[in-house]
Amino acid sequence: MFSNYKKLRENLESGNVWIKEVVDYYLSNIEKGKHLNAFLSVFKEEALERAELIQQKLNSNTAGKLAGMVIAVKDVLSLKNKPLTCASKILENFTALYTATSVQRLIDEDAIIIGKTNCDEFAMGSSNENSAYGAVKNPYDETRVPGGSSGGSAVSVAADMCMTALGTDTGGSVRQPASFCGVIGMKPTYGRVSRYGLTAFASSFDTVGVFANNINDCALVLDVISGKDEMDSTSVDVPAINYNDDINDIKKLKIGYVKENFAEGLDKEIYDVINEKIDKLRQNGFEIKEIHTPHSKYSVQAYYILTTAEASSNLARYDGVRYGVRAKESVTIEEMYINSRTEGFGSEVKRRIMLGTYVLSAGYYDAYYKKAQKVRRLIKNDFRKAFEEVDLIISPAAPSDAFKIGEKVDDPLAMYLNDIYTTTANLTGNPAICIPAGRDSKGLPIGLQITGKDFDEVSVLKLADFMIRYLPGSSQFPG
Ligand code: GLN
Repeated sequence: MFSNYKKLRENLESGNVWIKEVVDYYLSNIEKGKHLNAFLSVFKEEALERAELIQQKLNSNTAGKLAGMVIAVKDVLSLKNKPLTCASKILENFTALYTATSVQRLIDEDAIIIGKTNCDEFAMGSSNENSAYGAVKNPYDETRVPGGSSGGSAVSVAADMCMTALGTDTGGSVRQPASFCGVIGMKPTYGRVSRYGLTAFASSFDTVGVFANNINDCALVLDVISGKDEMDSTSVDVPAINYNDDINDIKKLKIGYVKENFAEGLDKEIYDVINEKIDKLRQNGFEIKEIHTPHSKYSVQAYYILTTAEASSNLARYDGVRYGVRAKESVTIEEMYINSRTEGFGSEVKRRIMLGTYVLSAGYYDAYYKKAQKVRRLIKNDFRKAFEEVDLIISPAAPSDAFKIGEKVDDPLAMYLNDIYTTTANLTGNPAICIPAGRDSKGLPIGLQITGKDFDEVSVLKLADFMIRYLPGSSQFPG
């Protein structure tokens, strides 16, 4: 109903709509969509209280940039005094002690945080089936996954339970669920948004990203959460995103595609849709170039070696002493560590901790970890070179549409391969967006990915906007 924030803001300012109505609307949709399992907690009372407060600010012309925007937040981002489960049993009873910078910046601009969304445990997964609190369902077909790990956030936007949502993207966890759920999902350049208060999975890959139904909302939220933060030394001081939807100069942008991306393993219908879009861009006067990134075929391998290594180190802190759940039946302290971790972690998280410990162990470090780091550098170099020739790169976002719940859960390698198009942008740090590009013969959404130069989010957003607005078949809710 509230299709975009710009319009909503006009209606709020002219008194046509009250913030309480907005909050009530989304709360009722959350209630209606309960069976989708998108939320782990909903902050009804606080949201209504804040609605009143922000309404007063609006009336006195002191409201922030996001006044009345209802936003859901993935449950790996901290919000003080609220549960922070990371969809894990080990943090079942944990309450956040402080608020993540990205979330605080939303609050400071008078957004309303409506709840915390379900996800894969510690953001590890591509289907949202790894949550200790049950799988999330895809609103297009409830027998299918919404993608992961930020599946709850993607569904909350797709099923109109909030206007925008925050997710996190370490290897595609915003873009792949956006692709499966037919919404926009963007991961900014690494360092653009502070990671303070984001529960670490793989620190050199983790980013905070945004889900939205239109590019203006996406750009606005991204801009608000961006910027240097003294609590995160990897956050970067670069000019704000400052997006405007004037796309007159768009055709100056040179667009590339990587031929190898359209090879075996890519679903035929997705292949056709993405190719058709590239053709349409060409017909619209864009310069399109075939480019080569010879090392990107090793992305998934390098990604899973490096991220599991970082995860094994980051997750060492959950030992039953400092955070969350402690196993009861232990005699020695060592037993207590072992039992707490055995009972607290799910099987995917355990698999990754073991894999990561293995690739970091003496004897294997050089063969796996160090080698994967070199591959990461080669991939980065490929992209640097490619971006000397083109401004943006178009690719599929995922090799398949939303698969069935249970279909890949016992086959981790098949699951990992679903990340083939998204992991590259995390290895390199470049910004990337997934936009809805159409639907397949099953009626399921197909996503298209646009990757840009470091810190050039604006060009990514502009091409995305152009494609959604002007290329037939690229509507936000295709079909
Ligand atoms: N699907 C990927 C993984 O399982 C990406 C996760 C993420 O981006 N958080 O690691």
